Amino acid sequence: MKVLKFGGTSVGSAENLAKVLAIVRGEGSEPYPVVVASAHSGVTDGLIAEARAAAAGKYSLGKLRDRHRELWARIGVDVALIEPLFDELDDLLRGLSLVRELTPRSLDLVASYGERWSCRGIAAYFAKEGLPAVAVDAYDLGLRTDSRFTAANPDPSCYPEVRRALRAIKGKVPVVTGFIAKDAHGNVTTLGRSGSDFSATILGAAIEADEVQIWTDVDGVMTADPRIVKEAKSIPVLSIAEASELAYYGAKVIHPATMLPAIERRIPVVVKDTSRPHLKGTTILAESPAGGAPVKSIAYKKGIILVTVASTRMLLQSGFMAKIFEVFARYDLSVDLVATSEVTVSVTVDTDRNLDAVAKELRAFSDVTIDRGLAQVCVVGEGIRERVGVAAQVFGALEKASIPVRLISHGGTKINISFLVDEAAVAKSVQALHTVFW
Ligand code: ADP
Ligand code: ASP
Ligand code: MG
Repeated sequence: MKVLKFGGTSVGSAENLAKVLAIVRGEGSEPYPVVVASAHSGVTDGLIAEARAAAAGKYSLGKLRDRHRELWARIGVDVALIEPLFDELDDLLRGLSLVRELTPRSLDLVASYGERWSCRGIAAYFAKEGLPAVAVDAYDLGLRTDSRFTAANPDPSCYPEVRRALRAIKGKVPVVTGFIAKDAHGNVTTLGRSGSDFSATILGAAIEADEVQIWTDVDGVMTADPRIVKEAKSIPVLSIAEASELAYYGAKVIHPATMLPAIERRIPVVVKDTSRPHLKGTTILAESPAGGAPVKSIAYKKGIILVTVASTRMLLQSGFMAKIFEVFARYDLSVDLVATSEVTVSVTVDTDRNLDAVAKELRAFSDVTIDRGLAQVCVVGEGIRERVGVAAQVFGALEKASIPVRLISHGGTKINISFLVDEAAVAKSVQALHTVFW
């Protein structure tokens, strides 16, 4: 059995939905593949904006209604199907506008409507075109997460239930909502932005799928973000380790946690272009074949904050590092890169959340400086481990382009070299590196 996930752009226009239908139909029946879908492009952004607007006292569902009315008219599906959900959301937003409050929990609930709408439309469209299909809200399959709203983690103990529920859907394509689930108390949760990729591998792991396909708007994982590097090329094969690092370090094409469920069950993940299904895309396997280029791809992540903790008194004392990391851990603020010198410890984080509280506690026993507006650039490839001179190539290229570099890290897996630059220098850095390696 296969899981086919279609992203926001793939399900965002009538032309693309026709391609989606052809791809799913091409998989044949018995068993039908499991389809996982995102919200129509732009809808999740719109929902989050309306949730914030509601908390500020004013909101409107007009644009979201129009988006669905127009698209569904073009695929020949009646929006009356989702009127009750629109009414429900209207009540919810009105509530938020009255209490003038938006908690992560209510934000997740608002954001969940995008996938609930789109899957109903897609299933109805498939059925109308003669492909039997049924819309399924992932939590109705039993998909459960923890209560970490806006970035929830799946609870694998629900997998057998999910598997039974999916198996019970016979003779139809289940069109399952990506991105959303429920916690143990029945609250709706989301897996974080771009979380439908993660949903696809979670469902893949639950049903022990033969393959998970991620259908998107580019021909697989590329040597760099094609929006920054026009010459970027598709990468035919990646190892799971390479793909995980790329996703984690910012390659937006897959959600950072996508590979985790696939690793345990060694499920191949294929990333392909919905508009050009004849192209090969990228296959992600447990191990990448030997040989090939040492560097596979360059990722970047903006909005990085560098926190430098200095203490001449304490640095060399045992337990100082533990004390620092304990504070970050207690505030659930995860640290990416770490570098130490004789009197400082520098770490990067990618969110402001709880940072003030963390800094306040650290200041009780050290000096803390916070630098914002940075970006992390990361060069990834299994070959970096063995090949001598990759670092020299990386930093030589940056020197040639006159780009100052902060904090350098050569991760424990030895398959990445990461460093910080000013946010404004990201495009130039990635382009300079791309020219050197390709
Ligand atoms: P979807 O809606 O299908 O999930 P996304 O927008 O989340 O699609 O991800 C696809 C986009 O990721 C591409 O259009 C591309 O701009 C961006 N991207 C960033 N880095 C890479 C990369 N290394 N390879 C491919 N795409 C990338
Ligand atoms: N619709 C969600 C988002 O925009 C999830 C996804 O598309 O993967 O983040
Ligand atoms: Mg995505």
